[in-house]
Amino acid sequence: MLNLLDLTRSQLRDLMRTWGQPAYRGDQIYQWLHKNLVTDPEHMTNLPKALRQRLAAEALINPLELLFQVDDARGETRKALFRLPDGSTIEVVLMLYDKRRTVCISTQVGCGIGCPFCATGMGGLTRNLSPGEIIAQVHWFERWLRQESPDSEGLAVQRPSRVTNIVVMGMGEPLANYDATMQALRALADPETFALSARNITLSTVGLVPKILRLAQEDLPIRLAVSLHAPTDRLRNKLVPINKRYHLPKLMDALVRYQEATRRRVTFEYAMMQGINDSAEQAHLLVDLLAPLHRPHVNLIPLNPTPGSPYQPSSPAMIRRFQQILEAGGITTTVRLRRGVEISAGCGQLRQAAQQPDVLQFIHG
Ligand code: SF4
Repeated sequence: MLNLLDLTRSQLRDLMRTWGQPAYRGDQIYQWLHKNLVTDPEHMTNLPKALRQRLAAEALINPLELLFQVDDARGETRKALFRLPDGSTIEVVLMLYDKRRTVCISTQVGCGIGCPFCATGMGGLTRNLSPGEIIAQVHWFERWLRQESPDSEGLAVQRPSRVTNIVVMGMGEPLANYDATMQALRALADPETFALSARNITLSTVGLVPKILRLAQEDLPIRLAVSLHAPTDRLRNKLVPINKRYHLPKLMDALVRYQEATRRRVTFEYAMMQGINDSAEQAHLLVDLLAPLHRPHVNLIPLNPTPGSPYQPSSPAMIRRFQQILEAGGITTTVRLRRGVEISAGCGQLRQAAQQPDVLQFIHG
């Protein structure tokens, strides 16, 4: 079935022409979809009834079926597992930080990169998501936040409110699904409809060098984060296997070029793993590695341990020492909160948990 959210504004205009309608009907539908977030053509009140009926019969608007959702104990994080029309499942997370309401979205079903510490990586890649399947994840939480009813579902957020930030850090490697991801982000940043500032969108990649260089040429000023996790090729080849193709000198060269072209800061994600990548020597190597970049920022994230994986989070003392060395080397850092460890908020963990009946029963309570 045709997913209307997969279509750009001009594709919707073309569709209307092929349906024997004036092209401006496509603009009207685009507004209903991306500004009003309607999921039922019946609510598109400025369309003729026959057109609404045809849309209802032949097109899909919301491809997400909520399987379940789970909040952390403090009411700051909600993780949702959705089923897509083909039966695949994806995860989406809403995180509350003071005034920010950030949605972490997925771009693929599974992931082909195969990082050994990641639940998604263990399952391999099933398929890319379409633009509409990516957009719908943000729309789903936006609709929930826009509701004026008092929050009877536990999350500590005043409603109505809005999604303020998007991080493309869920399941999958977004630059391996480049066109669909960029189409989705453009729709979400469209000032005439959803109107999220592109500066409030952060895309995280493991470092697909040709795509980073392509991103540098886009006229969409999103932020770039790189999942680094290791300061040497030897270690990174193990932790992030794509490093064998795009090793660190190549990656750093691409990031220097990206920064020259965009003048934007690059952030690095570094999952702290006990005894693997958290020594003082490795912190010094990281300072040296990032030296060619202007104002790099490093997020140090205690690893969310995946059941069945030997990788464990670093101790707070090791993280503090690592952080001190980076800061002494002139690199700004943030130690990121481990949001939702108890709700399996690490990438792919809820989906993995949902495949184990006893865990699913636990989540359902
Ligand atoms: S950490 Fe990211 S890139 Fe690596 S396997 Fe998991 S989803 Fe893929």
